[in-house]
Amino acid sequence: MPTKFILIGSGLAGGLLGAYLGRRGYDVDLYERRTDPREGNIVGGRSINLAVSTRGIHALEQLGIANEVLRHAIPMRGRMIHDKSGDLHFAPYDVDPKKCINSIGRAALNTTVIDAAQRYPNVRVHFNHRCTEVDLNEAVAYLETETGQVTASGDAVIGVDGAFSAVRQSMQRKIEKFEYEESYLAHGYKELAIPPGPDGSWRMEKNALHIWPRKSFMMIALPNPDCSFTCTLFWEFEGPRSFATTKTDDDVRDFFREEFPDAVPLMPTLLEDFRQNPTGSLVTIRCASWFHKDKIALVGDAAHAVVPFYGQGMNAAFEDCVVLDECLAEFPDNRERAFAEYFSRRKENADALADLAIDNFIEMRDKTASRAFRAKKKLDHLLEGLLPGVYLPLYTMVTFTRMPYATAAKRARFQNGIVYGSLFGVGILVFLLLIGLFRVIAG
Ligand SMILES: Cc1cc2nc3c(=O)[nH]c(=O)nc-3n(C[C@H](O)[C@H](O)[C@H](O)COP(=O)(O)OP(=O)(O)OC[C@H]3O[C@@H](n4cnc5c(N)ncnc54)[C@H](O)[C@@H]3O)c2cc1C
Repeated sequence: MPTKFILIGSGLAGGLLGAYLGRRGYDVDLYERRTDPREGNIVGGRSINLAVSTRGIHALEQLGIANEVLRHAIPMRGRMIHDKSGDLHFAPYDVDPKKCINSIGRAALNTTVIDAAQRYPNVRVHFNHRCTEVDLNEAVAYLETETGQVTASGDAVIGVDGAFSAVRQSMQRKIEKFEYEESYLAHGYKELAIPPGPDGSWRMEKNALHIWPRKSFMMIALPNPDCSFTCTLFWEFEGPRSFATTKTDDDVRDFFREEFPDAVPLMPTLLEDFRQNPTGSLVTIRCASWFHKDKIALVGDAAHAVVPFYGQGMNAAFEDCVVLDECLAEFPDNRERAFAEYFSRRKENADALADLAIDNFIEMRDKTASRAFRAKKKLDHLLEGLLPGVYLPLYTMVTFTRMPYATAAKRARFQNGIVYGSLFGVGILVFLLLIGLFRVIAG
């Protein structure tokens, strides 16, 4: 009898993991609380589109579905910065213009990974099943359906059920010394829309991630295949100017005209969107351990939700699937060892990504607007060009390689130390030379 896995959650990572486990010949039952996304329901409450990069593409390639996903993707080659006067500055992501991140629709990606899982006859997907509790020692999941309770038992249960994971909550309640930490940003987010032009054309540069950096807050926009853009406003929940104080249509109009004047004419449904779309919160979750004996494991946001500012949450969740699959292959007869190895290979990297994502919020909303930032990016690209393979900017390591996140973060600190140390040394040398020159002239 093949090992039977019960997967809870068929979001982005759940569908992909179902496909990986199905490919290995395991018996898989995947339970999702929502209805089938292929029946047209939108994955509500989360971003409409998101950026997939090297790590996510690698995970999709291993299953042969990367082209299927990328066929509908829009490459974004850099950041298009919109300042308050409407001036635009383009900052490429990498010295190599071919390196880009890709904007894809969440619903289309979700559908593709679920289809990929269902290509294996040993994978079954059950929608409208909400997990309420898990028996951690017996690997049994209790689920609610429209017609009553269902019990699903297997050899192991994997929680791929997102940041507010029911599987993790069972672990939090039942495992003594389970480590858990959640922290919310003071900012929330709201999605808004820029529709295509009257002739169905793009109203801004399509191959860029647009940013309106405004120091303590920002708006971004990612392109969609129908020539529209999805904008996301990241703004304080509370404060003198915030979601809390912006109540009337006039408040919204005034705020947007003041802060994003070039975007307002492109957003005909701004007032309705602002009123109707929910304001989401941004959470970082760290926990340990991500497994319990050979019975339970956590994957993706259930184990490590991060704020979205590095565009890596889903990429990291996909990388989890690759690593868990590798560990199960390395220890086919010892699942507990496989789970332990998966946890030890991923935990440090998930923690590093959580920090990088928060740091990048400050970079995006504040530093991208400055000349110093643009000069630093140019220096980064110059050094990358002069020292290929030796100097790699942090963004490049995180986004365009599969180097472990923790290694990338350490290497960036080391590189920065050398670059800034050298610049400081050169500065001192120039200063001393100038003083010497001055003395010669004076005396
Ligand atoms: C605004 C925003 C922008 C983002 N942009 C990016 C980006 O550009 N790039 C990127 O890589 N990442 C991005 N992310 C992060 C990305 O969305 C997540 O990291 C990713 O969705 C995690 O996948 P997951 O499968 O672990 O969780 P989810 O996608 O949340 O899926 C969890 C699934 O489990 C189901 N579920 C939940 N509870 C239960 C239950 N009790 N029983 C049964 N099913 C359940 C849910 O319905 C859902 O289908 C962004 C996130 C946000 C909020």
